[in-house]
Amino acid sequence: MTAPQPRPGILDIKPYVPGSSSAPGAAKVYKLSSNESALGASPNAIAAYNEAAADLFLYPDGGSNALRNKIAETYNLDAAKIVCGAGSDEILQLLTRAYVGEGDNIIQTEHGFLVYALAAMSSGATPRFAKEKNLTTDINTVLDLVDERTRIVFIANPNNPTGTYIPISDLDRLREELRDDIILVIDAAYAEFMEESDYNAGEKLVESHDNVVMTRTFSKIFGLAALRLGWGYCPPVIADVLNRIRGPFNVTLPAQAAGVAALDDQDFVDRNRAFNREERDWMARQLGAMGLDFVPSYGNFMLVKFPDAPGLNADDIQAYLKSDGVIVREMGPYKLGEYLRVSIGEKEANRKFIDLLTKKFSHDR
Ligand SMILES: *Cc1c(COP(=O)(O)O)cnc(C)c1O
Repeated sequence: MTAPQPRPGILDIKPYVPGSSSAPGAAKVYKLSSNESALGASPNAIAAYNEAAADLFLYPDGGSNALRNKIAETYNLDAAKIVCGAGSDEILQLLTRAYVGEGDNIIQTEHGFLVYALAAMSSGATPRFAKEKNLTTDINTVLDLVDERTRIVFIANPNNPTGTYIPISDLDRLREELRDDIILVIDAAYAEFMEESDYNAGEKLVESHDNVVMTRTFSKIFGLAALRLGWGYCPPVIADVLNRIRGPFNVTLPAQAAGVAALDDQDFVDRNRAFNREERDWMARQLGAMGLDFVPSYGNFMLVKFPDAPGLNADDIQAYLKSDGVIVREMGPYKLGEYLRVSIGEKEANRKFIDLLTKKFSHDR
């Protein structure tokens, strides 16, 4: 062997395919494929980003101190336990790099967020997929998969792409029954959209146990996906580990500034949450009226099921929507090939999506 070879397992990885953003030939493009904020970003955050332009020659604060303090103040948390990253994606990757090695395994759910499996494979580990119940995390099947080589259990709550969630009592029990040397990672990327009283993003579990991490993002309700900004809430020993292996300047200066300003504009967050709820309910009613099945969602997206018929199946509908500029997400990689995931977008985009479907599925078409 003469050419450089990556570590075993690396070439088995199928690269993550992000939501597409182009629809050649369409007059206007409506991107409903990546669960981005329907209302854009807070004007506060945009202003802070613009102001940061004057400081582009400076290295950022390597400890993201102002941002960590602002997060702590906003959510009533301990700043010392917060680690910021280039998207929550970086936190998920760092956790895997630090705690998962060759021959180990991680557990996620059957239709859970695929980044966990990809991160595990890049560490030479095996992802295990726990069966879901009604497209919802089932902690019993998760626990059944645990063995002596299990290092991390990843639960997205609510999950993307299914949009379902489990109550905090389930996560309490999962933690209770998990060995203390296994990390439970609760990915709460959509926490700010949640209004259910039995839901909690997981910060209390982090505070009371040494093996629970919660991850959060500025990519969804805050509308800062382009800046790549997320954070983890970790027990002190895990925060220490992540701080040893992360890049010394892993969060850019404009991202830190915009993040602080975004947290200062909770009005925007409230408006975005209310808008999402109204539009999601409206879309659900429209889909129901067409007789289409969908999974009731708690995020800013919805999983819609299509019939197994030529011209009406998920693949054909995806192509049909795209030809008119509406881009949705294919679900083959999530083993949900009969579904499409559509983000809740701005009003015009949602109406365009529903109008196009009505032409195919309305009973009096
Ligand atoms: C969108 C999303 C994230 C956020 O990723 P970032 O790297 O912070 O942009 C994390 N987890 C889930 C389940 C998501 O859907």
